Amino acid sequence: MAASEAFATPLYVTQPVLPDLEETYKTIEAIWQNKQLSNNGPMVKQLEKELADFLGVKYLSVLCNGTTSLQIACKALKLTGEVITTPFTFSATIHSLAWNNLKPVFCDIEEDTFNINPDLIEPLITQETTAILPVHVFGNPCKVEKIQQIADKYGLKVLYDAAHAFGVKLREKPIGTFGDISMFSFHATKVYHTIEGGALTCHQADLKERIDSLRNYCQKDDIFPEPGTNAKLNEVQAGIGLLVLKKVEEEIQKRKKLTNLYRQLLSDIPGITLNRDIPGVTHNYPYFVIKVEPDEFGLNRDQLFLKLQEYNIFPRKYFFPLCSNFECYRNLPSASKSNLPVANKVADRVLALPLHGNLNTSDIVKICEIIKKIRQENLKSNRTN
Ligand SMILES: *Cc1c(COP(=O)(O)O)cnc(C)c1O
Repeated sequence: MAASEAFATPLYVTQPVLPDLEETYKTIEAIWQNKQLSNNGPMVKQLEKELADFLGVKYLSVLCNGTTSLQIACKALKLTGEVITTPFTFSATIHSLAWNNLKPVFCDIEEDTFNINPDLIEPLITQETTAILPVHVFGNPCKVEKIQQIADKYGLKVLYDAAHAFGVKLREKPIGTFGDISMFSFHATKVYHTIEGGALTCHQADLKERIDSLRNYCQKDDIFPEPGTNAKLNEVQAGIGLLVLKKVEEEIQKRKKLTNLYRQLLSDIPGITLNRDIPGVTHNYPYFVIKVEPDEFGLNRDQLFLKLQEYNIFPRKYFFPLCSNFECYRNLPSASKSNLPVANKVADRVLALPLHGNLNTSDIVKICEIIKKIRQENLKSNRTN
């Protein structure tokens, strides 16, 4: 029964795309020769050009990471008061609001896409609301038209957290073209990365200028019109980013193949629900996330999580706990479980399984066999007890 024995080395949910080392030396050599290591150098300029091209957006600024990018986007859009957002996201989405003295207002999510439910946004709007901050969770596009309609009706800004959505398209339209600003994260755990890094995309030259000023201390002709920060990306990381960009399409295609294999092999297991591709969407396959229904599967998500570790498989609970249940946010009026029934249910059931381009189809086959074996052994032990 070799197939369902433990993996010899630990399997994590992701592995970064690494550029060829020889090419990396050449890039470093070019930077050394140029002797400019930061401050909007040639590598950063080239990366902004190539990324704007790849992502199909008019204006793009690269920054030191995704979290700081979100903080800068809030400043660039001059947000105040309350921002309606989702609790089913990475902590940084909500922290970036709090760091701008903005009050997060949590809106419940859709059960199928895990994205903010646009039908629940309007009742949350008050005199204080200035923006909506939706997240394209696991790269699945939000209901962008509905969200924009609401924003237009109430004069709100829309800031998308597109950290997971690099390269995603909705009916041929690039994901970064929706809303006022979109944020991409280039952390090493994302589909595309610059080790650490991020970008903001927008449609107006003056907005990009404002973002570029904010990331560079708002220093202009020694005038300093407002407080800025330092959120610059350096030349070495931009150079790495240029090399990783060449490999990203291949990585996405590998992940697509593995995702389809997972779906095929897991589709007949009672109590495991899977996301399917959405018609009209070009997906980027950043994570493979299943939902575990405890009654049908026999074990709950946390039990399966622990069992898989016995086989050297280390899944992640994305996203658990919900941001609305963090100690620092749980006392907000919108954080109550009664306001967020779907998000609370989903967060107790989701599990991200290993997915990256260095996995083989045989790894996926084995992971799925192990999941089946765990379920069957549990059923058997329940019967004999
Ligand atoms: C990764 C991530 C961020 C933060 O990006 P960093 O580059 O790690 O700062 C924000 N939001 C979501 C949804 C993320 O997954």
